[in-house]
Amino acid sequence: MTVLKALLPFVVFAMTWIPASRGSAEEPRAWVGKNVEDLQALYRHLHAHPELSFQEEKTAARLAEEFTKIGIDVTTKVGRHGVVGLIKNGPGPSIMIRSDLDALPVTEATGLPYASKVVVKDKIGNDVGVMHACGHDIHITCLVGVARYLMANKDAWRGTVMLIGQPAEEIGAGALEMLNDGLFKRFPKPDFALALHVDSTMQSGRVGYRAGYILANVDSVDITMRGKGGHGAYPHTTIDPIVQAAHLVVDLQTIVSRENSPFEPAVVTVGSIRGGTKHNIIPDSCRLQLTVRSYSDKVRKSLLDAIKRKASAVAAGAGAPEPIVEFSDATPATRNDEALVARVVPVFTRVLGADNVVPVDQSMGGEDFSQFGLAGVPIFMFRLGSITPQRMEEFTKIRKTPPSLHSPEYFPSPEPTITTGVTAMASAILELLPAGEK
Ligand code: ZN
Repeated sequence: MTVLKALLPFVVFAMTWIPASRGSAEEPRAWVGKNVEDLQALYRHLHAHPELSFQEEKTAARLAEEFTKIGIDVTTKVGRHGVVGLIKNGPGPSIMIRSDLDALPVTEATGLPYASKVVVKDKIGNDVGVMHACGHDIHITCLVGVARYLMANKDAWRGTVMLIGQPAEEIGAGALEMLNDGLFKRFPKPDFALALHVDSTMQSGRVGYRAGYILANVDSVDITMRGKGGHGAYPHTTIDPIVQAAHLVVDLQTIVSRENSPFEPAVVTVGSIRGGTKHNIIPDSCRLQLTVRSYSDKVRKSLLDAIKRKASAVAAGAGAPEPIVEFSDATPATRNDEALVARVVPVFTRVLGADNVVPVDQSMGGEDFSQFGLAGVPIFMFRLGSITPQRMEEFTKIRKTPPSLHSPEYFPSPEPTITTGVTAMASAILELLPAGEK
């Protein structure tokens, strides 16, 4: 009796971990071990054939082919090159797993045997290299790995999984494009959505998480200060837009330093200023380009309002025409759902080990995965370490940090990164769509 009593907690423990109805299903980690070789071949293919935002035609076709090949229902061209794979496996909750598809206008300098040699023409006819410098090729590979695992182990889970390949993350437009094309009307609106993103500073084998806000609101602002052009020798006959722009750059600095609460993250950066053609000509206009970052809607609105107000005030002070202020590329802040994170992180700890599940800081970067959250779905994006501990050590030895995402020299270590990505994602799905659920 006492022995039984002592054993009881362990019996309950074991029962919650391995539902009886899971049948002959294999645990994700064991499955990935046997299948990662094939997944790496897919990864190398994707890495060598990158495509820019909203041009992901071949990447989308390959993803659709991978899904179709294993019997998944596929719909293509959802929001331009968006791909939706649907696996229905009985009644139960539904979950969306998202990978982005696009690459960047970066000329690869990794020297890898499978490095991209792709070159395309940009808008003004210049040759630009194309590279998966943000690891979206790893994300697609993990999505395919998860799909293969789920199809091979249908006993292990119940419910509906929607696997999506999203175009144009890099320009913050693809998620909205898919939603506007009826993603949550033509397909069941999921109960949860998960995504992963490679991390260039975290060692492979690890994942990073944070509940609540993780990535910022991103806005681009184009300002045209207008004046009245003329000869540089007769400034009194002109209204100088260059002097206005110079005032404005300084005025903009006081938005964050004097108007914004020090407890609220905010950035206003002037990244480009262009005006004039020659020493002795006062131009008609001068153009500024800004990136604006924030977390809360309130701060975002007050930053954008302040930018407009400052520009108008400078123009009024100069007796100049009203400036043109245009806002674009709005990507809302990414907020990981607290309850979802609390449910999934213990699963990561169990399958990867406590040392390999690390809390991460907020960043002022942006991600349009946030759009699915704003559409009413609890979301969780976690980070996926991508550099082997050995490579990390080499960087430490030479006192360098590993190349960042978007660098021509960034490359993930495929095998451990894919293994951890598929293991973590598939294990999270088993937790959220348990086989025992009615
Ligand atoms: Zn990215």
